[in-house]
Amino acid sequence: MSTGVGIWRCKACGTGYFPERLLCARCHGHDFVADRVTEGVIEEITVVRHVLSQTDWTPKRLANVRTTNGPRMTVGLRDESGPGTVIALFEEGNAPFGAAKAAP
Ligand SMILES: [Zn+2]
Repeated sequence: MSTGVGIWRCKACGTGYFPERLLCARCHGHDFVADRVTEGVIEEITVVRHVLSQTDWTPKRLANVRTTNGPRMTVGLRDESGPGTVIALFEEGNAPFGAAKAAP
């Protein structure tokens, strides 16, 4: 597991993207640098209850997240956090996940 989720940030205007784009939608720049976002706010939750050909599937929660200083992205949610919760973002096996930040 690694902290944060990798994104691409436009060199010219700083807009963040996930996944990578060929051209920046804002300034049409085409130079991007790798960056990481480490937290975001949950905007919406989706529960995936059934998947074709999976017989022992357990429901999984997906969160649409507005990342801090970055793009919106969908991550697997590891806890019962709801909309409005600030979650920490991390990667496992190149897939993005999130869970409520531990109390300081
Ligand atoms: Zn740009």
